[in-house]
Amino acid sequence: MIIILKPDVTPESPEYQVLMKYLSQFEGVRTHIAEYQGITRKVVEIHLIGDTRKVPVEVIQSLPGVEKAIRISAKYRQIGRHGDLEPIGFDYKGLHFDQNSFHVFVGLCAVDTKENTEAIFKALKENGIRTARMGAYKPRTSPYDFQGHGKECLPWLFELAGKYDIAVIAMEVLAPHHIEEIWEALEKTGHPTGVMLQIGTRNAQNFELLKAVGNQQEFPVLYKRGMGLTIEESLNACEYIASEGNHNIIFCLRGVRTHLGEPHRNLVDFGHVPVIKRLTKLPVCVDPSHPIGSRVKAPDGIRDIYHVAAQGVIAGANMVLVEFHPVPEKALCDGPQALYLEELPCFMEYINQAREAYLNMKDIVARHTMQMMAPKP
Ligand code: PEP
Ligand code: MN
Repeated sequence: MIIILKPDVTPESPEYQVLMKYLSQFEGVRTHIAEYQGITRKVVEIHLIGDTRKVPVEVIQSLPGVEKAIRISAKYRQIGRHGDLEPIGFDYKGLHFDQNSFHVFVGLCAVDTKENTEAIFKALKENGIRTARMGAYKPRTSPYDFQGHGKECLPWLFELAGKYDIAVIAMEVLAPHHIEEIWEALEKTGHPTGVMLQIGTRNAQNFELLKAVGNQQEFPVLYKRGMGLTIEESLNACEYIASEGNHNIIFCLRGVRTHLGEPHRNLVDFGHVPVIKRLTKLPVCVDPSHPIGSRVKAPDGIRDIYHVAAQGVIAGANMVLVEFHPVPEKALCDGPQALYLEELPCFMEYINQAREAYLNMKDIVARHTMQMMAPKP
């Protein structure tokens, strides 16, 4: 069961004490407090864990300080949508993330030289973008391939980000100690930017890593669906993160592994955008670079990466994560799929147009639904 408190009720309020006293009579029922900070208000939820069958919803609902009590049968206790409450999302570094927001994270698959990194940040600033992707720790198939510069590059990377007013960098972590390394580098450089910790598809069920990113509240988490996992398995992985205390999670679709996706690298799964939005409160990201794997173009002159990015956005995605490089031929990782930096204005105009189309399409459906529901004369 989830109990949502009225907006002005906090754990210090007398109404809260009354509620907790009432709940304490039910043996085997534990409580977990979850707080969500939205733009206009903070939501405090009390999650009842254990055998809650004897806890009467109607009585709880009638207690002072309670806005709503919902009995949940769903398995996604923390990340799931319960009832008709609109998810409030979260704020980070002055940006808001929820199921209505829209951000494009652009950048290098793997950080290589300072020159290339600065070229990316400069182009982002010129295009009014404050969200980047930058890989410092790379999970590679072969141990002989470039593994990323790791913590060595973090101080100059963060300073450069600050110079170009980048608010958030999405950065994959492969092990719990990488979170500390990122924190230390941010401390050392005076927090010129923010970091969103990325869980890569290869670590989608690395439960100790999931617990580690869940066990801290500083950084939000970008969770990438396991390329061989069902939606249910990947959502349970997000539930691991949330149940440790961090609810600031974005769910990223990045394609799934099957030969049926050939000649693309993976099979695009962006049809699941509405599924994740329906089942959970999480904002949804799409990564068009990794499932496609190359810069090929269709006969209409549009790259496959653009086509599928637009498909994800039209399906209602809240974020796009895409790889660019100033000189893709020289990239140390995923060069074949990196878009040319010169085409950033084109990509942004294209993707913003897709977002506009989505918003207009949403209005069309809402208008027709209203008309269909209106009483007939
Ligand atoms: C990445 O985004 O840098 C990456 C490695 O992606 P994935 O985990 O989806 O393969
Ligand atoms: Mn990559």
